[in-house]
This record gives sequence, structure tokens and C-alpha cells, in this order.
Amino acid sequence: MEALIRTGLAQLGQAGRVPEDAPALLARYGALLLEKNRVMNLTAITQPQDVATLHMLDCAALLDCARFEGKTLIDVGTGAGFPGLPLKILTPSLEVTLLDSLNKRVDWLNETIDTLGLKGVRAVHGRAEEAGRDPAFRERFDFAAARAVADLRLLCELCLPFLKVGGRFLAMKGTDCGDEVDKALPAIQVLGGRLEGRIDRLIPHTDVTHRVVLVEKTSPTPEKYPRRWAKMQKVPL
Ligand code: SAM
Repeated sequence: MEALIRTGLAQLGQAGRVPEDAPALLARYGALLLEKNRVMNLTAITQPQDVATLHMLDCAALLDCARFEGKTLIDVGTGAGFPGLPLKILTPSLEVTLLDSLNKRVDWLNETIDTLGLKGVRAVHGRAEEAGRDPAFRERFDFAAARAVADLRLLCELCLPFLKVGGRFLAMKGTDCGDEVDKALPAIQVLGGRLEGRIDRLIPHTDVTHRVVLVEKTSPTPEKYPRRWAKMQKVPL
């Protein structure tokens, strides 16, 4: 995994910009993930080379979407830590909160953070629609990120409340997300955001292209959002 990650980072133009030990640390994280995945459902990806590309390098492709140094990021619905944990390893000065509603995954993430010796990253158990109403989390972050969690309309309601005004939401999607983005435009506006752009990236060593949808927070999110999950699904914005 380490060699694939190292050469993939070079293809992404990140060689020399990330810590020298990052490929080894990402490979170690990948190995811990595959080991635990034998007894706990953490990922559908089971081959080391796919972990290196479809998890680690996919997340590394976020690096040129923004300047993360010295900022704060919340990863909403992080699962086994994607994209927040690779971003932390690649940008050590980024403060990362990994949020997930499944406690077993959060416990494993906190153990993994300890094992890897990482500082300035924590995994938190909770539902985004509840944490987003908690003053300890609401409008506290420079960045929110999410991959494979929900449709963009719902995802914006889950993620935009966490952002400070001027912050950015990075939604990791497939290149076929055009309709999904169009349908999310009213929600983005209501929640205090503005669609900023879309960035497509070929994941190194694969023929898979993924898209990052960037949403800037331009004004505070009205207090009534996020609503309860059932309500969001029943009456999407
Ligand atoms: N982001 C990871 C990735 O790309 O590998 C995990 C994706 S997994 C398909 C979706 C994760 O989102 C699950 O771990 C689930 O527990 C979490 N999740 C779903 N809805 C959530 C919510 N409302 N609040 C917090 N976590 C949520």
C-alpha cells in the first residue's frame, strides 16, 4: 500500500507538500482497517491496493480543493474515518472531528488514532442533525466534509450548520451527480450557502473519476435547521 500511496500522491502533485511519513502512516491505517474489517463491518473494500487507491488517494485528492493548514474540519458520517483521517495524516496542523452515529466505529477510530499516535483529531459519537444544534459544534468549523452519506439536499442540511460563515462544505460525489446538485440548489440557499464549484479528479492508479462539490457558507444557517432526520427525508428543502 505504501508504494502505491507514495506514487499516487506524486501524481496528485502532493509529493513534497505532505509529511515524509504520511504514506507509511496511511498504509498502517489501511492495514489496521483491513485487520479489523475481518470482525467488524468497516468497509466493503477488502484488497490492499483498493484501500490505497479508493480510500486513501481518493481522500488525498481533496488536498488541492482548499488550504487546510491550521484550520478545523468536521467529517460527517465518517464511517471508518473517510475522508477526515487521511486528511489529518496528510495535513497534521488540521484539527479534525470525526462524527458518526455508529458507536462501534467511533470506538475503533479512537483506538486507531491512539495507535497511530495522532494529535488534534477526535472521533465523536452522535447524529449530525443533533450535533448540528449543539452550541459546541454549531458554526464552529472552517470545513465540513462528507463522502457516501446521503443525497446532497439532505447532506447540506446535515453539514452547513457546522460551518462558520466563510467556511466551506466539501461533498465527495460521483461525476454523475449533476441532477443531485441541481436539486440541492434551493436547500443550499435556504441554509445560508452558495454553490462555489465542482472539481473532478482521476484517482491515481485507477480509471475512476470522482467529483468534489464545493459549497461556501455565506450567512448563518437559520435556527430551525437542521430538522429531525424523518422530517428532512419527508420534506426535503
Ligand atoms: N464516509 C465514510 C466513507 O466514505 O467510507 C463512511 C460512509 S458510510 C456508507 C455512511 C456512514 O454515515 C455510516 O458510518 C453511518 O453510521 C454514518 N451516518 C449516516 N447518517 C448519519 C447521521 N445522520 N449522523 C452521523 N452519522 C451518520
